[in-house]
Amino acid sequence: MHGGAGYIAAERRAAHAEGCARAAEVGAAILRAGGSAVDAVEAAVRALEDDPLFNAGTGACLNEDGVIELDAAIMEGATLRAGGVAAMPPFKNPIAIARAAMEDGRHVLYAAHGAARFAMSKGFARATVDELRTDHAYDRWRALKDGQATEKGYAGGTVGAVARDAQGHVAAATSTGGMMDKAAGRVGDTPLLGAGTWADDDHGAASTTGHGEAFIRTAFAVRVVEGLAHATDLEAHLAADLSRMRARTGSCGGVILVDCKGSAAWARNTETMSWAVVRMDGAGESRESGA
Ligand code: ASP
Repeated sequence: MHGGAGYIAAERRAAHAEGCARAAEVGAAILRAGGSAVDAVEAAVRALEDDPLFNAGTGACLNEDGVIELDAAIMEGATLRAGGVAAMPPFKNPIAIARAAMEDGRHVLYAAHGAARFAMSKGFARATVDELRTDHAYDRWRALKDGQATEKGYAGGTVGAVARDAQGHVAAATSTGGMMDKAAGRVGDTPLLGAGTWADDDHGAASTTGHGEAFIRTAFAVRVVEGLAHATDLEAHLAADLSRMRARTGSCGGVILVDCKGSAAWARNTETMSWAVVRMDGAGESRESGA
């Protein structure tokens, strides 16, 4: 699980790590009961969409017009089925709508008003900006607009999950409000398969966070997953790909990954990234989290 790369103020870090740990546990409970990786990542991401600390669903950041446009995607490694929504008007749980698109199967990615129309056709209720906007998201945006803050772009809070289930299938899911003060209609890496979200049982699954334009330009998620074929040390592999992205684009971020054998790893080259992992095997379970 990740809860976004960027910069999280020191006093908020513990809460971000705890949120990730709780969400990872939601996914782990599904896997423990024999559920699928795709169910686990959807439920885990949904948990953080509902947590106002994070920049996804409730708590999503505001764009240059002060409104919320949401990006999310989910992908199943066994079948390469996937669904996504981009620049979608407010809905409480974009990842559930991405899942509905995946299950529906007609198209992979829905944008803007078409995404809202698709969601409503599947029974999802529209939310208002007021329902999803938190004081924290508004205050950060207001400070930026008033020239009181230099902070722009990614400031932590995108959410993502990867998992491998007992059948050996992997899945990835990512959800975000995107970058604060982004242009209307801007789409980040999160809903773009191969950039911010990727899952393929042959190799593994990844979810990214950070400067979306850089992840798009480097096709980051698919390359980091396919690169597993030649990787021996997972952390070093992730760190090397983030370094290459920084060298080629000047931008930073973070990534979580699970390989097809079930090993999990994460890396970041931003100041912070909240994360959590639950490892389960025949020998038992272990948990870790941080920010
Ligand atoms: N990657 C996200 C985007 O560019 C932002 C983030 O991860 O903080 O939309």
